[in-house]
This record gives sequence, structure tokens and C-alpha cells, in this order.
Amino acid sequence: MSQNLVEKIAQKFALDVPDNHKVKSGEFITISPAYVMTHDNTGAVIPKFKSIGATKFANPRQVVFTLDHNIQDKSEKNLAKYQKIENFAKEMGNDFYPAGRGIGHQIMVEEGYAFPGAMVVASDSHSNMYGGIGALGTPIVRTDAAAIWATGKTWQQIPPVAKVTLKGNLQKGVTGKDVIIALCGYFNNDEVLNCAIEFAGDGLANLSIDQRLTIANMTTEWGALVGLFPTDKVTIDWLYKRAEFIERRGLQGVPSDADGAGKHPRLNKERIAKLEENLAALQPDADAFYAKELTIDLSSIEPYVAGPNGVKVAAPVSKLKEEKIKINKAYLVSCVNSRVEDIADAAAVVKGKKIADGVKFYIAAASNEVQAESEKRGDWQALIDAGAIPLPPGCGPCIGLGTGLLEDGEIGISATNRNFKGRMGSPDALAYLASPAVVAASAISGYIDFDWNEKKSIIGEIAENKNAQTSNAKVEIIDGFPTKLSGELIFCNRDNINTDGIYPGKYTYIDDFTPEDQAKVVMENYDPEFKEIVKEGDVLVSGFNFGTGSSREQAATALKYRGVKAVIAGSFSATYMRNAINNGFLTIASPESVKALRDKFDGDDLTIRAGISAEIDFKNSVIKFDEEEYPISPVGKIAQELILTEGLENWVKEQLK
Ligand code: SF4
Repeated sequence: MSQNLVEKIAQKFALDVPDNHKVKSGEFITISPAYVMTHDNTGAVIPKFKSIGATKFANPRQVVFTLDHNIQDKSEKNLAKYQKIENFAKEMGNDFYPAGRGIGHQIMVEEGYAFPGAMVVASDSHSNMYGGIGALGTPIVRTDAAAIWATGKTWQQIPPVAKVTLKGNLQKGVTGKDVIIALCGYFNNDEVLNCAIEFAGDGLANLSIDQRLTIANMTTEWGALVGLFPTDKVTIDWLYKRAEFIERRGLQGVPSDADGAGKHPRLNKERIAKLEENLAALQPDADAFYAKELTIDLSSIEPYVAGPNGVKVAAPVSKLKEEKIKINKAYLVSCVNSRVEDIADAAAVVKGKKIADGVKFYIAAASNEVQAESEKRGDWQALIDAGAIPLPPGCGPCIGLGTGLLEDGEIGISATNRNFKGRMGSPDALAYLASPAVVAASAISGYIDFDWNEKKSIIGEIAENKNAQTSNAKVEIIDGFPTKLSGELIFCNRDNINTDGIYPGKYTYIDDFTPEDQAKVVMENYDPEFKEIVKEGDVLVSGFNFGTGSSREQAATALKYRGVKAVIAGSFSATYMRNAINNGFLTIASPESVKALRDKFDGDDLTIRAGISAEIDFKNSVIKFDEEEYPISPVGKIAQELILTEGLENWVKEQLK
């Protein structure tokens, strides 16, 4: 059976895969990633790690700490927190990068943790960025981070994979940021939600690593869990250049030097040469399956602006500039767009000019090395001379921390990745996203502006491959896990049932809410009648993207406490599914079952007692009802273990025994 590149890399980092079995989308696998990064949130992972009874890291070389989010905060409290994290790193013997070295994701690339063909995870949603350098980067939650520290492993379900073909070439003045903003705005109906993306096409040859990192980074905002670029000549050239730079720079500041011979442990010429020899192994099979195939013509993209306050609405700059939207603040900061090329693009725009009166333009490099290089090139000074305000290399205003936040009624344009309401300061402010050059031009004009007049229309298309290709291998059933599960179907025939519908937000922070209390309010906002209709032992079937919205765990546990045996849905929000499995609650994707029930029940009722008994056959990955069989996502060994142990924390405790 053929594999796409996501499946191939996942296979390399999967444990306990039977011989000759090729992992596929939809499968649950135990993974041991090459690296796991946590940043300021390390402080929250430490107590989780300790509470599961762990005392040392399974593999200290696997773990990286970077302090980047709140580095402007020099209060005693924050400095004490940072010191505690540093001390913990010393005790555990893992790699640690202090505040001021840069943004964690950038460090992961600069220091070669994110390396082509490696699976690298981080407790942060922008881990997708590692895809720009050909690594399978994906976010994890804090409990996973604690599990990896303690055991070296956690679990993943391989998402559906979408192929995005970039055709043709960008016009001069159009950047990777414009590409990803255009993609988010053009394909804005959740086309890649919860998918892994593989980029392909002839347009890649002219996309630099900086551009690829930007595009991969913001696949997160597009809704994807991975944004993987292939490893090609552009990647290899970048790696050699970086290795040469490191040879000149030396190993100062590199916490681990594995061979002790003065060679960088990850970015050295021998390793890159080996990679170059084995590039064929990092190609998808010619007949690999993709759930969706999207294409965009790069030459049809002009500079784009997203917003305000969302990425699903994007407008070409040629249109927006006519509206003369006045701005108060501009930002060139963050992991998506503060690398050397970005700073050079912005510097070229402002050279010899001054920032408009009444506008503040904040700049922060993605790392101290980026800043040093931009200073050497004169780009940093050009920005300062124009009136830009420098901030230290870190996250800062991107996440609403430190100097220069948006205040009530203000409008900002930012080269960051997220413009959700209130993220960069006041919820009564408006935030737009754009490329560094557009941000810089707007800072000079005082309104959204760029030297671009040619109006273009995006040329893009999408095809969906309906017949999912799943592994037909029999699932191994572990001791104690049932081969079959029966229950009556209860049908909530809606898509996008959100966590607030399942478990109202007003109960989320009531600390003494018991499991019985949770069971009483389940689905209250979705359908107040639900609790009267549902019975202990039911199997709940719902539509697509079940559990979207916030990450509250109770949306999974409340159904479990109400006695629902499992949820079957067309698809799940990735976070919901993770929370459910991490709490030992079974979630199974089966779009075919949902379609069958929709054909049978077409009324408006929110909750329907279907009067149907179903049997889930885990070994053969099917559900049977009404004398038909429908495929389900395979419930693999690790998912079974997590259900049996009632969740990830208990699973880790078992592993530690
Ligand atoms: Fe997150 Fe912004 Fe920091 Fe990137 S720069 S890691 S998006 S807070």
C-alpha cells in the first residue's frame, strides 16, 4: 500500500508497528518524536510531570526548553519562574535556551532540532512551522509533553492528508505571507480543518526557506495540524549554509554537544550529506492517497491583507489601499515573519523615510542571531532610523504581552499570524495581518498601503477524494479490551457541535463540580431535551467537526460521565478528540455511518433516539446497524490502552511501573 510523506515520516517515529504494516491516515499510533519543545509553559508542565510520579526524563536529549513568550516581564515573579525552569533543566539535563535567545520555534529550526524527515512536536500551536524545513511538526498539549518527558512517547492519530499544489511563480513584491493569507481567505470554508498538509508543485523551487517557514507557520490559522514542505535542493542548500554559519559561529550557546568533538550535534555537513544521499526516502509514493487536493496559481496572487480580527476574510492590498484605513500601530514581530528576509523586505520599504506621525512601529527579531545578521546587513538600522521601536527577540505583542499593545479603538497592522479579537491587546481594537513589506509601507503612510496597483484574481481549485483509503489490516486487540461494543444509537444531526453546546462555559471554572454534576448539564446548550432522551450505554452519533471551539476537557468527560459509551462522528475537532482519548473516552470517525443516518432521519430534531442497535467491531474496524456495515477509523493498540487505563496520565503511571 502506498504512503504519502506524512504517513512515511509518522511511520519512522511510530512504535510497536507490526512488521510489514504501513501506517495510514486515521490510525492511532504510539510515537516517540525526535524532539519535544516547551516554552514559558514549561512551568505548567513541570507539576503535571511530577504529579504522575515521574522523577527523571526518559531521554533528556529529546527535550528542549526555550523561554520566549513573556521575556519583557522583569518582575520578581516572572524572573523566579524563569529561574525555576532553568534549574529544572539543569537537574534533568535537557537542552535549555534562556530568554533573549529567540522565539522557541525559530531556535528549533536554527539549531537543527527541526530537521528534514524528523517528527518534532511542541506544546504550542505553531509547531506546524517545522514543516517549512521538511520536518513533521505538529502541536501537542501539555499532558502529552509531560508524558514524553516521562516515557519518551505519547500517541497520535494520523490526520487526513491534503495536498496543496503551488503552481507557477510569485510576482516580485509578493511573499510567502501573501500566499498563506490568500490561501486562508480563498479556501475559507474549513477545507483543510484538522488535516495535515503536504505542499507540492513547480512553484516550490522559487520559495526560500524563510518563505516556506512563514507559509507552514500559518497553516495553523488555516486550520491544519501540519504544513509539510518536501525536502529539495532549496532545503539542502539552506542546511549547508546554516552549517557553515555554525562552523564560523562556534558552539557557544549550544547546550548539548553530542559527540563532544566540537561538531554541532544536529547541523553538521556529514549529517546533511547523508540526508542528501537518502532524499528518495523523503518523497511521497507516486500513487499516494490524499483526502483532498487543492491547487493555487502563485502568479495570480497579489499582496494580501487579512482581517480585521480573523483570517477568513482577506482582501488584496490594491483594494484596501483605496479605503485609506488609518492605522495607529504596526508590528514586525513573531515566529511567522521576523527572519532576515522579512526584516530586509521591511527595511527596503522604509529606507530614507520616516514613520507617519501618530503611528508606532514595533520590531522584534525572531532570534538574537537574526537580529545580529540584520544589523550586519544594515536593515535593522534602516528601520530604527525610520523611527521603528525595537523590542527584544521574543513573542511580546504577538500574544498580547509587554510593550506596545493595541488599545481601545486602535487599529493595527501586523506581520504576525493571529489577529483574533483581543489577542494583541484590547478587544475593542482591530488587527489586520500582512507581509513585512505591506506592514512597513503602511507604517510610513499612516494607513494600509503598499506600492501595488495591479489587480489580480486568485486562480485556485479543490478536489475531494471521496473514497478514503484506509488500512485493511486487522486491528490487534489487547488483553482486556473488548473486540466488540454494542449500544443504541442516539443521533444529534448537526455539524460543528461546539464545546459550549456540549458543556456550557459557565460551569467550566466551578472547581467543585463533580462528575455527577457534569453529567446533569451535558449538551444543555445544544439541546436542553438531550438529558431526558439519552440513556446509559448509548452510542452518540453526530455530524462533522464535532467538538469544535474551546479546549475544555469537560466537553469530553461530561458525555462519559453521562454513560455514553462512545461518540461516532463524521469528523472531530482535533483538540476535542485529543481531550477525549486523553481522558479515556472513545471517539470514532465514520463519515459513512453519519451519511446513512442522515438518509434515514431528515427532520429538524436536535436529538433523535434512533431505535437502532449498533455493534462496533474493533478488530475489523466496522460498525454494523440496519444490516449494513460501515467503516470506522481503526482503534489501534495505543487508543485501546488509553481507554483501558482511563486516560493518558494513568497510562504514563502504568508505563513508569
Ligand atoms: Fe506564538 Fe506569537 Fe510566540 Fe509565535 S511569536 S510562538 S505565534 S506567541
